[in-house]
Amino acid sequence: MSYDPATKIQELSAFGEFGGVNPSITDSSTYTFLKSETMKELFESEIEGCFLYSRHWNPSNKYLSDAISALENSEASQITSSGISAIACTILQICEQGDEIISSRTIYGGTYALFKNVLPKFGITVKFVDILDLSVVNKNITSKTKMVYCESISNPLLDVSDLPELSKITKKHAIKLVVDNTFSPMAITPINHGADIVIHSLTKFINGTSDCVAGSISSTKDFISQLSDVNNGMCMLLGPVLDSFRSASILKNIHTLHIRMKQHSMNAQFISEGLEKLGIKVMYPGLKSHPQNSLMSDIMNEKYGYSGILAIDVGNERLAESLMENMQQKNIGFLAVSLGYFKTLFSLPGNSTSSEISDEEQIEMGLSKGIIRLSVGIDDNIEASFEKMKDSMNELGILKK
Ligand SMILES: *Cc1c(COP(=O)(O)O)cnc(C)c1O
Repeated sequence: MSYDPATKIQELSAFGEFGGVNPSITDSSTYTFLKSETMKELFESEIEGCFLYSRHWNPSNKYLSDAISALENSEASQITSSGISAIACTILQICEQGDEIISSRTIYGGTYALFKNVLPKFGITVKFVDILDLSVVNKNITSKTKMVYCESISNPLLDVSDLPELSKITKKHAIKLVVDNTFSPMAITPINHGADIVIHSLTKFINGTSDCVAGSISSTKDFISQLSDVNNGMCMLLGPVLDSFRSASILKNIHTLHIRMKQHSMNAQFISEGLEKLGIKVMYPGLKSHPQNSLMSDIMNEKYGYSGILAIDVGNERLAESLMENMQQKNIGFLAVSLGYFKTLFSLPGNSTSSEISDEEQIEMGLSKGIIRLSVGIDDNIEASFEKMKDSMNELGILKK
C-alpha cells in the first residue's frame, strides 16, 4: 500500500492571525477562559480548539502534530521535546511494573541504554532479540509482554524490519507494535503495515537543519489523549513539552521534507553503488546485495528512495578514524553524530551512538569497530563528493589497486 505523505502534508492549511501564511506562534504558557465552567470541563476531557496550559497542549504543537499525523497516516500525534522522551513516555504509558518488552537488539544506543539500565528501575524487563528472526520474537512472548519494539530501518546496521510479519505476531497476541521511524520518514509508513505506535526523533531528517532536539508519537486518538491526560498522561506528568518557537520552525521545515528525502536517497544510492563497485563493504537497503532489499522495495512508498543512511566497513577502527578525519578536511561533510542534516555527517557507531552497547553484544549483532555510518547530505553535485571520498580512500590505501 503506497502512501503519499507529501501531498497529505500539503493539503493542510493553517493561517496565522491577520491571514499570515504561517500559523501564528503561541507566545503564552497559559490561556484565559471566559467562563470558569469551561475550565472545569477541560480538566475532565479535551475540548477541540480550547487550550489550558502549554505543558498540556499549545496551538503551535497542535499544528505540528497535524503535520506529523499526515506524514504517518495516523489519527493523532503528540509532540515532545526529544525523540528519547517520546520513547520513554510511550513505554511508561503502556507498561507497568512486572511487564515485559521484546525489543530489537539493533536499536539506537540511547534507546538501548534506556531499556537496559533505566526501565528495570521501574520493574519493566526488556528482552533483546534479533528482530529479523520472527520465530525468536514469537517464542519470547509471554502473558506479561506488552509490546514489540523496533526501528523500521535499524541504527546503525540498516537492517529493515519486516513490519507486516511483525504486526501479524503482535495482533495475534493483542500486544502493541511500536516502531521508531526516524531513519525513514516518507519512505516507510509503518502504520500502513500494521504498526500501532510510530515514534520519531524530529531532530533528524524531519527538521533537517541540526539546530534543535524534538520528538513525536503517532497513534490512535485514544492513545494520544491518554498521553496528555492531566491525571495519568506521561507527556503531561513527565513534562517533555516542546517550546512553541521550535515547534513553529520544525513545521516550516516539514514542508520541504519530500524534496530533501528524495535528494538524500538519490545521493546515498549513488555513493553506495559507487563504493560497492570499488570493493568496499557497504550496507544500504537500496543495494541489491542488502539482505532486505526486496522487503524494503515491497513496503516503501514510491518516490522517496531507500533513505539517506548507509554504513561502510573499512576493516578496523584506526583506518575508520583516519578516513573520517580526512573526509572532514576535504569538506565532504562533518565528523559528528546525528543524521538527516543537509551536509553529510559521519561517525563510528561502535564508539559513539552505540557505545552504550557492550563490546561482546556489538560483536554478536555484527557491529564491527571499522564501521562508519554516513548520513548523506543533499549535495547538488554528489559526483564531486564521491570523487573526493575516493581520493580520501586512496590516500589511506583503503582501495585495492
Ligand atoms: C536520535 C535518535 C533517537 C533519539 O532522539 P533525540 O531527538 O536525540 O532524543 C531515537 N531513535 C533514533 C533512531 C535516533 O536516531
